[in-house]
Amino acid sequence: MPSRTSTALPVLWIATTNPGKTREFRGLFGSKWDVRDLHSFPQLPEIKETGKTFVANAKIKALALSYALPGKLIMADDSGLVVPSLGGRPGVRSARYSGPRATNESNRAKLLKAMVGLSGQARRAYFQATLVLALNGHVLGIKNGRVWGLITTEERGEGGFGYDPIFRPAGYLGTFGELSAATKKKVSHRARAARSLATLLSRARALTRATNHI
Ligand code: IMP
Repeated sequence: MPSRTSTALPVLWIATTNPGKTREFRGLFGSKWDVRDLHSFPQLPEIKETGKTFVANAKIKALALSYALPGKLIMADDSGLVVPSLGGRPGVRSARYSGPRATNESNRAKLLKAMVGLSGQARRAYFQATLVLALNGHVLGIKNGRVWGLITTEERGEGGFGYDPIFRPAGYLGTFGELSAATKKKVSHRARAARSLATLLSRARALTRATNHI
């Protein structure tokens, strides 16, 4: 009997438990990849992000997971919000800006408070995303994406995640919390990094197919 051709999408493992990131990655890669995150592996130990840069932390996460899951194509995202007038804070500490028990709400509240009295250019900020693709303990590629904007003086909108309700991207009237997911998918730091990773991802797809038949 002839073997049936599989129409299943290849799996791209994302080194995150952040549902906001996973949702966005599904929007960005979902037509070509079955995007899965670490919720599929609750037994894996937490990966400590000890690096001082987005690139260092993304590499730590990608490599740790690619050692733990041999033969699987891994993508790690390290991202955050950088406010030059605050000396680059929250930066690589964006997720934990307001302390070890930080929530999105407490992080936003801390940032708004830190920026009271700042106006104009002093409210400029950018989101940065670094994506690292890895397989079997090897980094296949690293890409960055950045989007500039302004930190608002109050929260606006409930879409997105993290700092989205207080970040208004340049050229738009609304915050990422107010703009549609389709708009964020076009202009965000993550979308920009994802677009520059596209060629490499297609090559990696062929590689994992050849080595692992996924
Ligand atoms: P990490 O990459 O897991 O270390 O955490 C990134 C943190 O940066 C998130 O928890 C958010 O607080 C923030 N962040 C990254 N990307 C975005 C975004 O697209 N919107 C809002 N906040 C973001």
